[in-house]
Formats: sequence, structure tokens, C-alpha cells
Amino acid sequence: MTDFKEMGLSEALLQGIAALGFEKPTPIQQQVIPAVLQSNTDLIALAQTGTGKTAAFGLPLLQLVRPQERHVQAVVLCPTRELCVQVASDMAHYARYADQYSIVAVYGGASMETQIRQIRAGAHILVATPGRLVDLLVRQVVALDKVARVVLDEADEMLNMGFRDAVDLILEAAENRQTLWLFSATMPAEVRAIADTYMREPLEIGIASRQQANADIEHVYHICRPEHRYAALKRIVDAHPGIYGLIFCRTRAETKEIAEQMIRDGYNADALHGDLAQSDRDRVMQRFRERHLQLLIATDVAARGIDVSDLSHVIHYGLPDEPEVYIHRAGRTGRAGRKGVSISIITPKMEERIRIIERRARITFARNAIPTGTEVCERQLFYIIQNIRDQEVQREQMAPFLPKIYEALQDLSKEELIERFASVEFNRFLAYYRDAIDINVGSRPRANGRLSDRTPSSGSTTQQRLFVNVGLVDGIQKKDLLSLLIHDLHVPKHAIGKIEIRRTHTLLDVEATYRQEVQRGMSSFNVNGRRIRVNEDNGGHTVAFARDKKKRHANKASASSR
Ligand code: ADP
Ligand code: MG
Repeated sequence: MTDFKEMGLSEALLQGIAALGFEKPTPIQQQVIPAVLQSNTDLIALAQTGTGKTAAFGLPLLQLVRPQERHVQAVVLCPTRELCVQVASDMAHYARYADQYSIVAVYGGASMETQIRQIRAGAHILVATPGRLVDLLVRQVVALDKVARVVLDEADEMLNMGFRDAVDLILEAAENRQTLWLFSATMPAEVRAIADTYMREPLEIGIASRQQANADIEHVYHICRPEHRYAALKRIVDAHPGIYGLIFCRTRAETKEIAEQMIRDGYNADALHGDLAQSDRDRVMQRFRERHLQLLIATDVAARGIDVSDLSHVIHYGLPDEPEVYIHRAGRTGRAGRKGVSISIITPKMEERIRIIERRARITFARNAIPTGTEVCERQLFYIIQNIRDQEVQREQMAPFLPKIYEALQDLSKEELIERFASVEFNRFLAYYRDAIDINVGSRPRANGRLSDRTPSSGSTTQQRLFVNVGLVDGIQKKDLLSLLIHDLHVPKHAIGKIEIRRTHTLLDVEATYRQEVQRGMSSFNVNGRRIRVNEDNGGHTVAFARDKKKRHANKASASSR
């Protein structure tokens, strides 16, 4: 069966998916939809991310719901709020031309009253996070006794996130259900346990290929030393102009750190992690979806269920422990038949894990060199050229300006013009990468290189806060310090972070790799005959001095009031 029309879906639903541009069912849809429409079977469907699981359960659910009966007939459980919203919205799209279906998304962080009202107004299908649905059950504002079908979407992740108890509660509340369908990318023991507990002779689909990764994804890794990982990330991003991708970090802290650093370095990037308020997460997702953001840096959990279908790259900043998590991450690119690239930036120690993933997922990685500065510049240059070629010319709007433009450029030859246009962006990268060293493992950075020979941010991502014993009272100004650092000590500008000149001291952030040089270098200078002293600031100084300062202020105030 290769056509939606032969599956027993209503004309209205067919119209809905046609409007979405779905021409042919994906393999999982081909297997699931007719099977669950023909019999009331329980179902386990394992398939990679991006294989079209939402429609595989969404379409038959809609087909099986009876719109004239105004009560909750089906529940779809999803691990995250984002996924709930997405699945509910996808289903509403399928049902656009059908009878009035009420599909309600139920998740935390939003008004419970609104959700209760929507449910009571006659919801047919709830798309819910387990946590919020349990809340509603406990408050007895929703009953699931007439629910005929329950779907667990992203079951593996739901259980990973500790929703087992909630899922149990919900399945017990929906005790009159006829079917339970479970969709998952992987089949860990916890998922199997759910199936064993709640299913009767389930139909299993996609088991054989469960660890087969999407063939449209190319897997690449780069090795560098730990302190060069951030520099490698930047090179890789710079070497892929026009990249639209997700960068995975292992922890929230790392996600924040990398995002902050990238934003500071001028990338069009933002972070998505659990510490953000819901409204911020929504805003970030919206901007990413609309491509106002080019790079989204996320934790695994936060990235769950993000369906942005045309990502060009997935980047792993370090590798996850579980091969299955890797496959799941990589599955964010190469969706719906498009080509995608999954890039891992790893340290030598992690290479063993690449081999494990290769064996377990039956994929092959290519080890590629981290692009050199010259390569980055070359790629950027050709990207610019291609952009110029592809540029749509707004003849009418340009017309009034053209005479003046021609005049301003008239003495330049075609060759000179080309050089100049191409240089506009290119110069920036050229300057940036002029002295960039090779950071591939195996090639040692030049020994005894001057500070200014370093690759930008070749060091670790961490900034070190330094305490400098001179401040406003010594007549120090920011520009003096900058000049000292940049001109006398040859610290590159980008390695210098925040400078806070306080009354008696200064807090100075520099990239950790430059700490020693700065410390040593500055200590050979005097201010008003006093030797500059630079210490690592561990927070203690700041507190002590602040207190000190306050006391002094207080003295002064009382002195003058007398
Ligand atoms: P999964 O849940 O398996 O990760 P989704 O259901 O989110 O995958 O689908 C991934 C993408 O593929 C979505 O953008 C969806 O619109 C698209 N898609 C799903 N089914 C089809 C189809 N039959 N034809 C074309 N695109 C499809
Ligand atoms: Mg899905």
C-alpha cells in the first residue's frame, strides 16, 4: 500500500494532508495507519526521529474519533510542552477540512483554567504532558473513563524523564481503553516494561530496523584537544556559511556557556534549556523556527520534539553516553528525505565511543580535519560569491540610485569591482583567521608563539576573572587598561572580556588561556609608583572590598553631615 487514498482515511483528512504537501505515506505511516484502522490492536512502533510518526498515529486517531460525541476519546502523551504544542497543531492541520474536532494541548507552565475550560467545552483529543494531565486527574477536572485510545509518543524519552509513575496513573485512569499505541525511537527496558504491563499481543512495527540510522545523514567527527573544542566549533560553523543547525551540549551549564560565548562572538545563536522560563523557550523556538536564529544550542531534553524539518547540521559538542541518544540527536537533520550532516567535536579520549556508536547503530563515521583558517576563508569567500550570483536584483527600486552608483564606481575595472565586492565580508574572516593555528590533534601549536599568533579563542571557553589592585582612585581608565593589554602585552581583543573599574580595584575578565600572560605581563608595570598586582579573583576579594568601600562611604557621609 503506497498511497494515502488506499488506507481508509476520510476524504476530508486526505484533503488536509494534501494541503500539507504529503504526497506519499512514509514507511512507518504505510505500516501503521492501515493496521490500526483495521483492528483494535495494541501497537509498538519504533522509528527514527523524522520518519513521520505524528501522522502515523494522528491520522488514524482522527479517523476513529466520533466528532458528534463531545467527550475525551483519545489521549496522546508527549514528554515536553513543545512536543505537545507541535503534535496538537499538526493534528489540527490534518483535520482542517474535517468535521469540527476539538484537539486540546494540555501542558504545564500555562493556565490550567483555560485548559480546563477547553476540555469541558467538549474536547475529543487531549495531547498532554504526563505531569499536567495527572494534575488535572488529581483535581478531578478531567475524566478518562471514556477514552478509547491512548498514544505514548516519544515513549523512551518520556520514561527517561521520569514520567513512569505519571504514565501508570494515566493508563489506570483510562482503564476502558481499547488500544494503546506506543511510539518510540528506541526500545530500552523501561519501554519494554510498559508494553509488557499494559499491552496484549501488540503488533510490533519497525523492530528490525530500530537501530538503523537514517541513510540521508552523513556522520562526521573532528578531534581536538579539550581546550580547543570551542575554537573547533567556531571553525566548523564558520566553514559552513548558511548553516542552520542544532548544537547539542551535555549539560545546561555547558549549553548556557557555549551560547553566551557564541553570542558574544557575534553568532546568530541562542540557547534552549530547562532553566529558561516557558515564555523564553517559546520565544527562542519561534525565532529558530522562523530562521531568525541560525544556531540553537540545546540540551537533549530541551531539544526533544523540536520538529524543524530542514536543519542542515546537527553538531555534537562532545558525545552523549548512549549511542541511541546520538542517533536520536542526529535524526534532527536529514528529515523527510533531505540530506543532513551530523558533526561531532570530540577529544581523543572520546574516539572509542565513536566506534561503539558505529557498531551499535551500524553507521560509519568519517574523521575529517578541523578546517584551517585558510579553508574557512576560502569557504566563506565562495559563499559570498554564490550569494552575489544568486542575488535577486530589485531593478525598479534600484533604478533611482544606479546613476550615482555607476558614477561612484566608474573608474574601477570589472576585476577591481569584483575584488572589492568579494572583500566586503571576506576581510572580516581574513583578519580573524590570519594567524590561526592548526588545532587538529597530532599537530602541535607553534611553540613559543607570541600571544598575538594565537588563534582567536584557541583557548578554552572559560573566562577567568582577575583582580587587579588599581582602580578609579589611581586614575585608571578602561582605555588605559585595554591599551596596556592589547599593545603592550599583545593579548588579542577577543580574549578580553568585561572590565569593571571600581574605586580601589578592577575586575578584569580574560580568556583563561591568557591568564598567566596577563598576570605576569601586568605585574611588570607600575601605576603612580605602585606595582600592579594581579590575582585570580575567586569572589572573595569583591565581597571584601565592597564591604570595605561601603564602610568608607559611610564614614565619609557621617563626616560631612557633621
Ligand atoms: P517523528 O515524529 O517521527 O520524528 P514527524 O511526525 O515530526 O516525525 O515528521 C517529520 C517531518 O516529516 C514533519 O515535518 C512532517 O511534516 C513531515 N512528514 C510527515 N509525513 C510526511 C509525508 N507523508 N510526506 C511528507 N512529509 C511528511
Ligand atoms: Mg515525533
